[in-house]
Amino acid sequence: MSKKIIIIGGGAAGMMAALSVKRNGGDALILEKNDRVGKKLLATGNGRCNYTNKNLNINNYHGNNPKFAYSALSEFDVERTIEFFESLGITPAVEDNGKVFPLSFQASSMLDVLRYEIETQGIELITEAQVFEIKKKNQFTVTLKDKRIFEGDRVIIATGGMALPSSGSDGNGYNLCKKLGHTITEIFPGLVQLKLESKFLRALDGVKFLGVAGIYIDNKLILEDSGDILFTSYGISGPPVLQLSRTALDYMNKEKNVELRVSIIHTKTQEELLEYLVNRFKLMPNKTIEIALIGLINKKLIIPLLKETNIDKNKNAASLSKDEMRKLSEILTSWSFKVIGSQSWGNAQVTAGGVNTAEVDNKTMESKIVKGLYIVGELLDIDGDCGGFNLQWAWSSGYIAGLNAAKN
Ligand SMILES: Cc1cc2nc3c(=O)[nH]c(=O)nc-3n(C[C@H](O)[C@H](O)[C@H](O)COP(=O)(O)OP(=O)(O)OC[C@H]3O[C@@H](n4cnc5c(N)ncnc54)[C@H](O)[C@@H]3O)c2cc1C
Repeated sequence: MSKKIIIIGGGAAGMMAALSVKRNGGDALILEKNDRVGKKLLATGNGRCNYTNKNLNINNYHGNNPKFAYSALSEFDVERTIEFFESLGITPAVEDNGKVFPLSFQASSMLDVLRYEIETQGIELITEAQVFEIKKKNQFTVTLKDKRIFEGDRVIIATGGMALPSSGSDGNGYNLCKKLGHTITEIFPGLVQLKLESKFLRALDGVKFLGVAGIYIDNKLILEDSGDILFTSYGISGPPVLQLSRTALDYMNKEKNVELRVSIIHTKTQEELLEYLVNRFKLMPNKTIEIALIGLINKKLIIPLLKETNIDKNKNAASLSKDEMRKLSEILTSWSFKVIGSQSWGNAQVTAGGVNTAEVDNKTMESKIVKGLYIVGELLDIDGDCGGFNLQWAWSSGYIAGLNAAKN
């Protein structure tokens, strides 16, 4: 007789786990808290769903032991994932940096084909079913908040982390796992905008530029990334900032002073820029420095930069002292800010931290504490960089858990 496997959570990992159970001869039941599955999937990739990445490397993953992810990511790898979704109707579109999207560029296409497959494969799906408790004797007994009870041979927990709680993943899965004897590592938002300390934020709000951002600890560069950067009323945003946020917050949690440096002009070194500015200002003998910077940088940056460097905006550009010229070239190539925190869970794309991976078998996703229990997706202490790596983790871990739950 085929095994009955209860999957808790109908997100990316849960839906993949259910399909894998079915393909491997098991009976799957999905219990989803929301009135529909895959709510978060619709929000991914700005509504376009960046569902994997051709350049995937284990270094794109983080956690107390990122290598935990290696086995599942190699078994149900990027190629298998692309093939899997192609068989469901998703034609892949590969963009810069290896990011893969459905050619329709609609996240809803991903959800549509998954839901179609779930329905046609006869997978039982119960929505508005919030799991409250999981108990194991010979079998698993799963109790919902409204007291309905389900029994199964195996349970796969796929309740996600804390990012975007309005999508359903509000962290309640950690309690389910704790009650079963698991420990949870420190959790904090990953891929999130950073709050900075600066008296100029209001003036800078809305300034966007193509630049480089770097995290510095004790004057040492730890990590940097480039792309579109946006100043906001609370601090800073944009893809490079999201990418750096995990490292920044990790150091903050370790009570380090975290500095973020941005280069507004990244195409020249400080020395080259200094030379360029000297020549530029010579050609504008009658312009004040405030006017002489127009056309070089976003106009909204000019006054804050001059205030920060204590340069009088009415001073003639050509008459700037050597020291003022040096300060200006320095700040334009490396403007330093203190990081004081991040936006909250509602803005985060992923959860750093989660169920301790030392308590889970990385080849099967089975709990080492409760036999027959499997834990997958963002709920585990594994998080990926921006670029399709988090969904790939959800697909890979979900698939492997489904396979092993059905077969073993
Ligand atoms: C705005 C945004 C954009 C993103 N874009 C991308 C992207 O383009 N590419 C990428 O790789 N990653 C992206 N991510 C990250 C990615 O979406 C997640 O890492 C991934 O969805 C995690 O899958 P999961 O199945 O583990 O959890 P989730 O997708 O969060 O699913 C968990 C499900 O479990 C349900 N649930 C929770 N508790 C219970 C309970 N007690 N009982 C029953 N059901 C429960 C929830 O309602 C939810 O449906 C993005 C995230 C956000 C927030």
